Amino acid sequence: MQFPSRRRKNNINPQTELYGHALQFYGQPPLENISLSEFETFAVDRLKLLKTIENLGVSYVKLSEQYAKKLETEFKNLNFPYRPDAKRRKDHISHFILRLAYCQTEDLRRWFIQQEVDLFRYRFNDLPPKHKLEFLHRNNLQYDTISVEEKKTLLDKLVNSSYAVSGITVEDQDFYKVPFQDALDLVRTRKVYLKAGYVYIPHQDIVTIVLNDFRTRLSKALALTARSLPAVHSDERLQPLLNHLSHAYVGQDYSIQKNVGKISLEQIDSLSGKSFPLCMRQLHQNLRESHHLRHGGRMQYGLFLKGIGLSLEQALQFWRSEFIRGKVDADKFDKAYAYGIRHMFGKEGKRADYTPYSCMKVILSNPPSQGDHHGCPFRHSDPELLKQKLQFYKVSPSGISQILELVKGMHYQLACQKYFELTHNVSEASFSLNHPNQYFIESQRVLGGGKDIKREMDTPQRSQDNHTWSDISSLSSPTSFCLIICEEWWLSENQESFALKWRQLL
Ligand code: SF4
Repeated sequence: MQFPSRRRKNNINPQTELYGHALQFYGQPPLENISLSEFETFAVDRLKLLKTIENLGVSYVKLSEQYAKKLETEFKNLNFPYRPDAKRRKDHISHFILRLAYCQTEDLRRWFIQQEVDLFRYRFNDLPPKHKLEFLHRNNLQYDTISVEEKKTLLDKLVNSSYAVSGITVEDQDFYKVPFQDALDLVRTRKVYLKAGYVYIPHQDIVTIVLNDFRTRLSKALALTARSLPAVHSDERLQPLLNHLSHAYVGQDYSIQKNVGKISLEQIDSLSGKSFPLCMRQLHQNLRESHHLRHGGRMQYGLFLKGIGLSLEQALQFWRSEFIRGKVDADKFDKAYAYGIRHMFGKEGKRADYTPYSCMKVILSNPPSQGDHHGCPFRHSDPELLKQKLQFYKVSPSGISQILELVKGMHYQLACQKYFELTHNVSEASFSLNHPNQYFIESQRVLGGGKDIKREMDTPQRSQDNHTWSDISSLSSPTSFCLIICEEWWLSENQESFALKWRQLL
């Protein structure tokens, strides 16, 4: 795709202009052509980075040693170089792509701004002092440091007014002279010395000013970008990509059923109490109580069950047995509901193999209305109701407070992760939650002492024959083919690739 070009001033190479410093306010959009695959890769990598920032921001003190160390590792893993000698193109382009995806709603904008500001804070603090000053001047933040003489004259005032600055360190550190209206936060909290319309800000506090500026610019830029969305949406190549990104889930694909047949219907009640995330636990409970779920609930819960390993036959049996206990008779079930279940498994309609919903999808799309039970309880339940649910599930009062605090800060997935830690008695979850099926797998891992889910019913015996893929594809009889497939399914080391081959062959 092509980003709109801009007129070049004074023959300055735009790349040099844009990437002359390790950090930028992202004032200029990218000027070059990129392929759609690069577009997608950059966007997904930045999204992963922002999600890491969100998680770390809640688990660690921001800018603490551990926080910085983990973030630096993530930078390396995602190949996001930004130091002076590295290319900064990916950082720049990926930021602008996510702007397009995350300007669409108030919730998305708020989330994006928060993570970008945290990322910026980390990177600004990581710069050497000389580069910080350079950055300020490049971005028309013409704050100058005061001279040594002026520092000596104002020594007492600076020590008394500036938080965490002692007489010894005043001499060693730079103070910026800034118009007071640019530092209202610091003035309001009385953290700086104010004289004749200027405040004197110690080096470590200048970041507050820069962050405020960055936040304001980004917020305005997102509002402007939102206005141009109709034009972007008219591009049929971009629209699906952008829509996907704003609900993006960047982890494992749980449509590949690794555990098909490993769950028995009798296990579901006990699993729902032990290993289902709250969203699925409440759906299961409501299904058992009212013997019915509306469409949104059937989709969310049905796909989750498919993801944990229910086969189509089991799913039909599960839903039928529950629905006919209520107001739906078997005949009506077969006519009105069985189609939807087969559809979910790709056996009807366009035969798409539907993927279980990720947390982002549950949180951001199709909010529940009166009578619905789908959605994410951390996002969609009233806090008082959520508190009652957590009390009912025997979460401790201090745990409930921690969860509600995270919900208040709109960290819904982290609230869910905290619920996981509290209900599994682990001090810190070793994963970052993105998907209800991931919750289930991690829960089974913890409860099984590190092992994946075990089937309580009979497990098919390992065949003594060691069939290979070519053996199977050369078979002519469909019946024997299916039988061997079943055996091979259990035998296969790599079930995912096996499943793929199977689908291709069918
Ligand atoms: S955060 Fe995800 S797994 Fe947890 S309750 Fe919400 S949607 Fe379900």
